[in-house]
Amino acid sequence: MKIIQLEVGMLQTNVYIININDCNIIIDPGAEPEKILSELKKNNISEIKYILLTHNHWDHTGAVIPLKNKLKIKCGSHTLDKVECVDFLFNDEDVLDGLQVIHTPGHTTGGCCFFIPSANPPILIAGDTIFPEGGYGRTDFGGNEKDIKKSIKDKILVLPLNTIIYPGHGESTTVEQEKEYW
Ligand SMILES: [Zn+2]
Repeated sequence: MKIIQLEVGMLQTNVYIININDCNIIIDPGAEPEKILSELKKNNISEIKYILLTHNHWDHTGAVIPLKNKLKIKCGSHTLDKVECVDFLFNDEDVLDGLQVIHTPGHTTGGCCFFIPSANPPILIAGDTIFPEGGYGRTDFGGNEKDIKKSIKDKILVLPLNTIIYPGHGESTTVEQEKEYW
């Protein structure tokens, strides 16, 4: 299991390239497709299995179409966050090549996190649901404040304490650190 973090676009969105069970998966390619492609090349990654989205905001989806065209791959999202560039759908508790889907509505209706329990320590790709030091994604773009707080408390802070949280923007944190703020 290997994770590459790359910052793209005006809003400095974190793109994650995950290698798990011999598959490479791109999560949230928000902008700058050429930068993502050169990162793949730099790491000798020639095959990508698919793209996954944590949610459907443009700063997380901006490079999906060029990457799909270039790499001939498909893109998946949660059923409730389907947008035009999406080819396949997933739901809460689905497991995609070792990535466990956790539906965390609030920032968007179909927003979700991807939990990788087999990583040591475990990893959570969190999109814009939770940010370090008690932060969370804005809820004024199709979201709901009550829902996002419930998602964080009921679905994220219950994960193992040593889980590393990789958010959609900014630095990583852990479940243990975030519990202090809630
Ligand atoms: Zn967002």
